[in-house]
Amino acid sequence: MKIAKVIVDIPANQIDRPFDYLIPKEWADKDFVQPGMRVVVPFGPRKVQGFVSAITHNTAVESEKIKPIQSVLDLTPVLTPELLQLGEWICGTTLSFLITAYQAMLPAAMKVKYEKEVHIFDLQSVKNDQLLQFATDSVIQWKEIEKNKMIFPLIQKEIQNGNAEVVYRVEDRAKKKKKRHIIPKLSLKELSEFADSLPMQASKQKEVLHFFLKHQDGVELQQLLSTLQTSAAPIHALVTKGVLQESFVEVYRDPYQHRNFEATMPLELTNEQKHAIEPILQSIKNGQNDVFLMFGITGSGKTEIYLQAIASVLRAGKEAIMLVPEIALTPMMVERFKGRFGNDVAVLHSGLSTGEKYDEWRKIQQKEVRVVVGARSAIFAPFENIGIIIIDEEHETSYKQEENPRYHARDVAIERGKNHKCPVILGSATPSLESFARANKNVYRLLTLKERINARKLPTVEVVDMRKELKNGNRSMFSITLLKKLTERLERGEQSVLFLNRRGFSTFIMCRDCGYVLNCPHCDISLTYHKKDSKLKCHYCAYEIPLPRVCPECSSDHIRFFGTGTQKVEEELAKLLPEARVIRMDVDTTSRKGAHEQLLQAFQGKKADILLGTQMIAKGLDFPNVTFVGVLAADTMLHLPDFRASEKTFQLITQVSGRAGRHELPGEVVIQTYTPEHYSIELAAIPDFESYYYHEMMIRKIHQYPPFYYLTLITISHSEIMKVVDTADKIARFLRSNLSNNAIILGPSASPIPRIKDRYRYQCMIKYKHEPKLGNVLHTLINHYQQEISKSELQISIDMNPYMMM
Ligand code: ADP
Ligand code: ZN
Ligand code: ZN
Repeated sequence: MKIAKVIVDIPANQIDRPFDYLIPKEWADKDFVQPGMRVVVPFGPRKVQGFVSAITHNTAVESEKIKPIQSVLDLTPVLTPELLQLGEWICGTTLSFLITAYQAMLPAAMKVKYEKEVHIFDLQSVKNDQLLQFATDSVIQWKEIEKNKMIFPLIQKEIQNGNAEVVYRVEDRAKKKKKRHIIPKLSLKELSEFADSLPMQASKQKEVLHFFLKHQDGVELQQLLSTLQTSAAPIHALVTKGVLQESFVEVYRDPYQHRNFEATMPLELTNEQKHAIEPILQSIKNGQNDVFLMFGITGSGKTEIYLQAIASVLRAGKEAIMLVPEIALTPMMVERFKGRFGNDVAVLHSGLSTGEKYDEWRKIQQKEVRVVVGARSAIFAPFENIGIIIIDEEHETSYKQEENPRYHARDVAIERGKNHKCPVILGSATPSLESFARANKNVYRLLTLKERINARKLPTVEVVDMRKELKNGNRSMFSITLLKKLTERLERGEQSVLFLNRRGFSTFIMCRDCGYVLNCPHCDISLTYHKKDSKLKCHYCAYEIPLPRVCPECSSDHIRFFGTGTQKVEEELAKLLPEARVIRMDVDTTSRKGAHEQLLQAFQGKKADILLGTQMIAKGLDFPNVTFVGVLAADTMLHLPDFRASEKTFQLITQVSGRAGRHELPGEVVIQTYTPEHYSIELAAIPDFESYYYHEMMIRKIHQYPPFYYLTLITISHSEIMKVVDTADKIARFLRSNLSNNAIILGPSASPIPRIKDRYRYQCMIKYKHEPKLGNVLHTLINHYQQEISKSELQISIDMNPYMMM
């Protein structure tokens, strides 16, 4: 008796464990079912999907009661043994369900139920008649196979022999990912003899054969038809006669296929770069699981080091994962990797369609590439022989997933580094406090790059006090200095970047007479003004209303919008510098697919003088002609209820400043702020990371925040406020009586956004240094509320390493 342990797709506490299923006898003796495959199993009255986590021979379930696996969804495992195990580790560290962790590792195309079919490459070489029965035009519908269990192992064999594959029919298949090729089946001599033997009337067939005498390697069908100006009939005739043969050649939906990547060679490293790469190369060579923190200012040549370290890993026959934050994963970045490694690179980011993502993932799974460059979830690339994992801009909070499983890609990288005994490189010009502290304690190995390549100077930074501007009668959003520098650039034909921090800086509507602010009636957060459709919208729920003409509270018509959005900046620029050509990049102008790339290319092609944008222009951009960067409001983020607010401000200013003067022309930066004396702004202007680090560490220590303490955030929400308050109260009491006296429990208190989508929100924060019981205590807590959670609308979310405090 063969038993499969299956993790079923029901994310609930009582079900978060493997269930035993019988492997049907048709499959049992063939090693057909393997760990990491997805299956369909009966669960109560339902049929659900699940992952096979292990195969065993014994079970505690009585033999009359055990149910068989109904069907399989994969013929080759989609999760490697390492990923299966990694899933368990993720559950342990993030308190998520195993099924949720496994699903997070796969591309979306595989999570939803898409139609599937099996494509057979060469029907003639299929020995088994039973299999052939099911095929129409070399394609077998999955639905057909499901009716006949015996067929599965037969197809599995064809896949193993490289003669078939499973293809998902994702909607955007319209782009055609398969092309039909025609190849001769006979030798040159036989072809020519066959042509001679044909009767006169078969002139088209003769013509086709003559074509193949010169094109032995075959040709794409469409191309053949157009070259010979013929219909498909003569070709089909020749296929039927066994002279020619059809085959499918895979064409990936490659989003970069229309671009030519210029091949690049490794650069001769500077002395500083050599010092930094040496220990990494050693670590690769010795198969050591070191974690390196590469602290190098912008433009110090970190990326070149990544490229050369990866090259060394590839020479050793291993694979590489390179993580880049979503917004820094620009075409420019991709180009650098494709330029060096060509087709050995898969790219994974959210801008790809479902089908494109699936194709990229499949290149990894089928070992067609050895390098993946991608955003957060690329950390789950199903490689089996990883030689290096690199996380660029390691301080970026987008590496933390803000839904279940709430993992941090940095932690996963380090765990996978252990599994594969390979180095992990964390790189940044502004490392997170957590990472820098670990490097200082020699938990990570610190590599420092202090000089820019070619000794290019960091730009000069000037901080402008906007309060003084106002006092001097300048009511515009641009200081005199900033405007002067913009004008100079225009005159010299150089480019500028203007950065506006979007967070905490939306345009809200306030009544100037009574001070009334228009809030979302469901979310306790101010509504944002959208000029385009003249509406007020809530950014948390879908609520929207037309812009009111008078104050709903006092009927005054002095109702205005405050704050500055990119649209407003654009308008004011048009008034002040009418000759300037401006490209605006924000959520509105980049939502269309490909728009992001087009705008950047236009700017690169000098089709604009000023690039105006939000966060998305802060990272990874490298324009030779940019000599000026202006930060319009540097401190808007400082006042958010988040202990990392100052760290984020420091990082952002440093990153944005790094965009200026990266090439021959020297750069200048102007930072406008209402709090010029704040240490994060003062020190970012220099920039002096280490002074900032010591100052911020002192503050974290005093207030007992990471990296001195660990945090766990529990958020409780419900539509009835009393229910929330009551539950939060009980939870806080439970924590206080079950955790050690060293744990600090804050709250319960209303969350910074006290209501979202009509649900009231309360939170408890746990601060601790060493609390081995915490996992169990939280499990007990969830178990206790399980019934209420599944029956009523109570929600309790637990974040073991929160980055969003709202
Ligand atoms: P970072 O990733 O630290 O910002 P990059 O690797 O992007 O730095 O390097 C900045 C610029 O210097 C790039 O244009 C890069 O091609 C160039 N560069 C990097 N290393 C070298 C080198 N050893 N010799 C010459 N140019 C280099
Ligand atoms: Zn009013
Ligand atoms: Zn709302």
